[in-house]
Amino acid sequence: MTSQEVRAQFLNFFKEKNHKIVPSAPMVMKDDPTLMFTNAGMNQFKEYFLGNSVAKHKRLADTQKCLRVSGKHNDLEEVGKDTYHHTMFEMLGNWSIGDYFKKEAIQWAWELLTEVYKIDKESLYVSIFEGSEDDGLPLDQEAYDLWKAIVPEDRIIKGNKKDNFWEMGDQGPCGPCSEIHVDIRSKAEKAKIPGASLVNQDHPQVVEIWNLVFMQFNRKANGSLEPLPEKHIDTGMGFERLCMVLQGVQSNYDTDVFTPLIREIEIITGHKYGKDEKTDIAIRVIADHVRAVSFSIADGQLPSNTGAGYVIRRILRRAIRYGFTFLDTNQPFIHRLVKVLGEQMGAAFPELKEQKQLIENVIKEEESSFLSTLEQGLVLLDSVIKSAKEKTIDGEKAFELYDTFGFPIDLTSLILEEKGYTLDVQGFNKALKAQKDRSRAASEVSKDDWTVLMTDSEQEFIGYDSLEANVKLVKYRKI
Ligand code: ATP
Ligand code: MG
Ligand code: MG
Ligand code: MG
Repeated sequence: MTSQEVRAQFLNFFKEKNHKIVPSAPMVMKDDPTLMFTNAGMNQFKEYFLGNSVAKHKRLADTQKCLRVSGKHNDLEEVGKDTYHHTMFEMLGNWSIGDYFKKEAIQWAWELLTEVYKIDKESLYVSIFEGSEDDGLPLDQEAYDLWKAIVPEDRIIKGNKKDNFWEMGDQGPCGPCSEIHVDIRSKAEKAKIPGASLVNQDHPQVVEIWNLVFMQFNRKANGSLEPLPEKHIDTGMGFERLCMVLQGVQSNYDTDVFTPLIREIEIITGHKYGKDEKTDIAIRVIADHVRAVSFSIADGQLPSNTGAGYVIRRILRRAIRYGFTFLDTNQPFIHRLVKVLGEQMGAAFPELKEQKQLIENVIKEEESSFLSTLEQGLVLLDSVIKSAKEKTIDGEKAFELYDTFGFPIDLTSLILEEKGYTLDVQGFNKALKAQKDRSRAASEVSKDDWTVLMTDSEQEFIGYDSLEANVKLVKYRKI
């Protein structure tokens, strides 16, 4: 089954169950100060869940472009190293806004997976919320009983708050959840260790594919839970993981979502995928990152030095460095993948085709500019490492790399980690702050990336302050 068919079947299934199929929201958020990027399908429906606005349709379904590189859901470090976490991915979802609840959500999920997609029932495991003392919540007996009617009890795993209580961020709608995991190991491997013991253990062949969230609470800024006015269903299924299962392969990168990109990288760089682990990671990172960056640009978010734009720049520079170090690419080439991406994804996401020229130009420009300083920066970093007396590298040096050579701090950390060193992040932050104080004194704060939201006549939202990995929200300032 091609990925196009997988996506279409999901949407058709829920259309037949009276769901309204809606378009994906943009991946870059412009109007939610608690979130920089869409990290789940439910984000665009948050106000319905909170009861702040009324949904025209009570049953909804879509495929949502998500990006998990900052905040509560940040998978950047995993990407490329494992085979099933991406920066940008599609989340297939169905929602009930105060309409159906656990029973239908569970039954339909099972029906779709086993009767439409025909996944072997024996390879599926489900998890339910075991309860949490912190929040005074009990075990989800209702979900347990519903699953017990469908699957043998030894396939139902009780999970903790980390895995089975879903939260959008530090604040916002949340609730207990029940997840579906699939064991794609060979028969022989399955015979050695039971799949149940590998669920939620970061095993690359026993992976979570679908999360059914029973939205019942709002997490408030002070950490307490308040019940929502109504109960809702919010589900999210990883599209690329589902394709992996249905196409009978062992990695998301071996599905037709990624293989055209990987083939193109092989042709351009002359490096074959599947020959060497380091090269493979680099190829996966680039195939992944070009999607994140292209979709962001198509959504109107260009790489820049602040806010969401800086996150995008960081991702792209990370990809450029992986190419340079492991695939010997010293000329811009990532922009050449945009055409392939458009051919693969353009039918589902026409913005990729419409914005092709812009995306290519922006990426090429970024590549040229970073490549011009990358080599010198790497030479400097090497000499710093060689002269280092300890395994921790001075933050001031990392700042010089950032300031003069355009090395994002997480890139410097990554390179150091590869060589067995760590970075004095505090020292870096101190140097960065000193520079910011100097420039703040000299000029107005930049707000180019963000819509200015007037809250009252006294205050103005000045946007996010991106201190690299610890992107934090700058509150309102007086004007
Ligand atoms: P995991 O435990 O694998 O990190 P998660 O529990 O963080 O996943 P959810 O927030 O429950 O993920 O998101 C719903 C679904 O989206 C998951 O079941 C999974 O299939 C998919 N998904 C989550 N994160 C990623 C990612 N980084 N790349 C690809 N798919 C993902
Ligand atoms: Mg996760
Ligand atoms: Mg999980
Ligand atoms: Mg989950």
